[in-house]
Amino acid sequence: MAEENQGTSESRSQTENKPQTNNNKKPNQNRKPNQNRKPNNNKSKSKNRYRRQPTPVDENLKSFVQKNQDGHKKRLNPHYKLDLNSNAKIRITPLGGLGEIGGNITVFETEKEAILVDVGMSFPDEDMHGVDILVPDFSYIREIRKKIVAVIITHAHEDHIGAMPYLYKEMQFPIYATPLPLAMIGNKFDEHHIKEARRHFNPIEKRKIYQIGEDFEIEWMHMTHSIIDSSSLAITTKAGTVIHTGDFKIDHTPVDGYTADLHRLAYYGDKGVLCLLSDSTNSYNPLPTPSELSVGPALDRVFAKAEGRILLSTFSSNIHRVYQAIQYGIKYGRKVCVIGRSMERNIEIAMQYDYIKFPKNIFIEADEVSQMNDKEVLIVTTGSQGEPSSALFRMSIGEHRHIKIKPTDLIVLSSRAIPGNEGSISGMLNHLQKAGARVASDKDIHVSGHASIEEQKLMLRLTNPKFFLPVHGEYNHVMRHKETGIMCGVPERNILLMTDGEQIEIAPKFMRKVKTVKTGKTYIDNQNNHQIEDDIVLDRQKLASDGIVMIVAQIDGQTSKMLAKPRVTTFGIVADRQDKYFAKEMEDVLEHFLIHMKEGLISNTRALENDLRQIVRKHIYRKMKKYPLIVPNVFVH
Ligand SMILES: [Zn+2]
Repeated sequence: MAEENQGTSESRSQTENKPQTNNNKKPNQNRKPNQNRKPNNNKSKSKNRYRRQPTPVDENLKSFVQKNQDGHKKRLNPHYKLDLNSNAKIRITPLGGLGEIGGNITVFETEKEAILVDVGMSFPDEDMHGVDILVPDFSYIREIRKKIVAVIITHAHEDHIGAMPYLYKEMQFPIYATPLPLAMIGNKFDEHHIKEARRHFNPIEKRKIYQIGEDFEIEWMHMTHSIIDSSSLAITTKAGTVIHTGDFKIDHTPVDGYTADLHRLAYYGDKGVLCLLSDSTNSYNPLPTPSELSVGPALDRVFAKAEGRILLSTFSSNIHRVYQAIQYGIKYGRKVCVIGRSMERNIEIAMQYDYIKFPKNIFIEADEVSQMNDKEVLIVTTGSQGEPSSALFRMSIGEHRHIKIKPTDLIVLSSRAIPGNEGSISGMLNHLQKAGARVASDKDIHVSGHASIEEQKLMLRLTNPKFFLPVHGEYNHVMRHKETGIMCGVPERNILLMTDGEQIEIAPKFMRKVKTVKTGKTYIDNQNNHQIEDDIVLDRQKLASDGIVMIVAQIDGQTSKMLAKPRVTTFGIVADRQDKYFAKEMEDVLEHFLIHMKEGLISNTRALENDLRQIVRKHIYRKMKKYPLIVPNVFVH
């Protein structure tokens, strides 16, 4: 808990002053060893000869220095801009997106109402076999379902909207967002056969304040990011205004010219911001994130050297990247073939809604590529992460229906590896290069979509919040962002590092953790869009790491003896040639078990199997240090 009182003003001005005092000291210390000796003698002489009378202080001037200092304090201290008499509170609960990258979903709650900000998905770890995506646990949403008045979306990335169909199959609320996120959510609803959920759409206009429910006023403020039509949110309740940056970078020269709406952020900052939630993804990066526009010339240089076809792959949601690639393709007289379901769909949406414009005749179909001169072809495709189902991966192993890789092909990967995908990307590069293709991996053909330290500072200074919650990142990212927050004048006690499920309560006078709610992940199989139960995934992990043992035994109910040798089958435990030896071992274990088992157990097959499982488990662990799945089947005759 961070109680807040008059002390803030002092502690803040101290923070502001400290670096200055240090700065003043340094130059003096430096000067001494270098310039001291000779000049010093001269100085002392001249001091004696022309001793100056002190200049009289102009009291009026001095009073203005004081006035300006008071002005700075007022301007920089958000504390007094808030309604300190208000007892109103807002509660913030991240249900995903903290302690992890992805799966963003946050609940904002007043006494009577609640909103969800973003409903995203994330990707599984390698040991979650057969799991394609992860969806946040909706338990808490179920619990407060009656309070929820809206779902608010910041932007259309999968980690912010990907779980929408799974939520809407179960419960539905009005959805407020700008057009691109709504169009992309609409596509998801269609794919999941819940078209009718589109009736919950409420498209919004940026720079307008929307009354949502009775307790919330929300403004969407335009932001630059690696997907177009992104927004920051100003969420105002009786407790004050909370700024949620969404994902952002500050791009002063975005491809469409629509810069981040710094003016609105500054407006709120000047009025007084209760709390800032800001993107921590790149909180380690000391260099400013380059503009998306800087990728253009880099693509130009790479394209200029191409001797055959160009195959460019990037995130299909990065519309401006794709737009620039196509522009430079056209410059070199190439026709454009778009391959990959998400790439085709996203370009289609962006053109349908006039976010980008191209003449229709520059596009060709995949089956037309072979009839074209290689130097006249640009293929824009998915697969920059080496996903085995993607178009580029299938091309790399010669399994794409229309496109076979040629030695004259130039592959341009305009993306970075999402952590965890390095292996699959490297594998795909091996295939592409074995097929003879050249791969362009220039550093400047990709830029990040997230704010680096300097932009995070700008956000902190513009919004000038009383409380600060670094979000969107693993623990070490938010921790680093906290340091930046302190540098930018937020007192340390006014910053909290949240983890998923922690509920934070904020009022103008304090911020504190109040409780923890249930969070977690639901596993989804993409083949059928259905949930996979947790125990199935656990079983798969066990199978993959420790194998399985099946024992089938026939037992005489009277004598408790085996009627025949048990059948023992194993997978992933012993090599085939040791099967017989292992089966004998299991037979001995079983025999020993039958002799020593509790009286009466023979009449309860289920309990018998359970006990046998325990004995076998202990035996195998002692010998092999493994915990395989053990499946005993005992038939008592
Ligand atoms: Zn994003």
